[in-house]
Amino acid sequence: MSTRKTDYHPASTCFRCGKYLRPGGLKYRVDITITSAFNGVIDEHYEEGEMEKLAEEIKRMDPEELEKEVYQELIITLCKDCREGLIDYLSEAEELH
Ligand SMILES: [Zn+2]
Repeated sequence: MSTRKTDYHPASTCFRCGKYLRPGGLKYRVDITITSAFNGVIDEHYEEGEMEKLAEEIKRMDPEELEKEVYQELIITLCKDCREGLIDYLSEAEELH
């Protein structure tokens, strides 16, 4: 289960493995902010009319959905094992660069 930053309460179960997290026990809060990395450059190779199509699509989208496309905040609660797993995963990914 994920929540928005504004109404975060530590979850009673781990986001990843679902393990019960007892009150007062070890648990970890992970804040995730995902923002669109639009670099201000519009692909020049858009076919004629494609930009219009894109604009139409955006107009049809739910504003809330659209906001999520650009900016999304999540807070998850993890148990100790899953926290370590996440850190391992992220540091492995780092090494690939
Ligand atoms: Zn877990």
